[in-house]
Amino acid sequence: MARVGIPRGLFFFYQYPLWKTFFTDLGAEVITSSPTSRQTIDQGIDSTVDECCLPIKVYFGHVGQLLEQQPDYILAPRFISIEPRSYICPKFMGIPDMIRAQWPHCPPLIDITVDCSRDTRELWNNIYRAGLLFTGSRKSIYDAYQHGLREMKRVRVWTRQGYSPLEAIELWDGKREGPVKPQDNHICVGILGHGYSLYDPAISLQLIEKLKQLGCKVAFLESCVKEQIEAEAARLPKKLFWTLGRKMVGAALLMDKNPAIDGIVYLACFGCGPDSMVGDIIARKVRHKPFMLVTIDEHSGEGGLLTRLEAFCDMLRRKKVQGFEDNLSPYGLHAHSP
Ligand code: SF4
Repeated sequence: MARVGIPRGLFFFYQYPLWKTFFTDLGAEVITSSPTSRQTIDQGIDSTVDECCLPIKVYFGHVGQLLEQQPDYILAPRFISIEPRSYICPKFMGIPDMIRAQWPHCPPLIDITVDCSRDTRELWNNIYRAGLLFTGSRKSIYDAYQHGLREMKRVRVWTRQGYSPLEAIELWDGKREGPVKPQDNHICVGILGHGYSLYDPAISLQLIEKLKQLGCKVAFLESCVKEQIEAEAARLPKKLFWTLGRKMVGAALLMDKNPAIDGIVYLACFGCGPDSMVGDIIARKVRHKPFMLVTIDEHSGEGGLLTRLEAFCDMLRRKKVQGFEDNLSPYGLHAHSP
């Protein structure tokens, strides 16, 4: 049985159920790398150029770990566009070439080109070519792909119910038990960022877990209604042409209006072009909620993040209890005291 390796990074957090179902239905065994660890990050740093953002470095760390398992193929799609007239970060385009340059003797890459801004028949032809590696039956390939799409939709239903994408994938994969415990905490924080940074606990420095430990309920972009996100994003004077960036801006504006959300945290990666622009747009547009931008890279430490989150949550609590921010003086005096 052929073994297909799927690195646990980047599109994994969006599309793992699709591709696992597709290859499994075609008779292949799917293997993944282990969850991100410090070793993965270090391996990624050694395998990429300094200019790459942290998620790309981590992805390369996962590819390196997968190679140790000697798969027959590695799935490394070339994402260009996942919806018409909107694009994915150009770093995704170069992934298969960068892998081949780093590991010239790596197993064959399944480098399906995903460009939905072109004719969708092109996408199907690419998927068909990938399927031909495992079967000659066009119908089996078509059925496997359709099955994969259905599984991905099933996972998305869970994310709308409050699971993070990683939790939903683990639930789907039988690695987690549901249902999610109801979060009845006092304050609610909306979190935003690229999914492969935000939902990878090692990249995000356990941001979600830390907020929960600080007594916060956490709201995700994925639990917002898609049409409402698009309607909010459409209020920008110019359409953002990055799919993920546009969704984040739309979700931020939606969260800004939502009375159940007390504050918003945006996780950005140092060296990320889209983040530098999207984070700034959100900071300017969010008018009614406290907003915090956290920028991370491979040198960031958990202690610094925890201190900032504690301060942010303390401020949200004070604001909620007292109805206003009481402007505590750094000298120990109340700013409004006589
Ligand atoms: S969008 Fe930013 S974080 Fe994502 S791959 Fe591109 S540069 Fe890296």
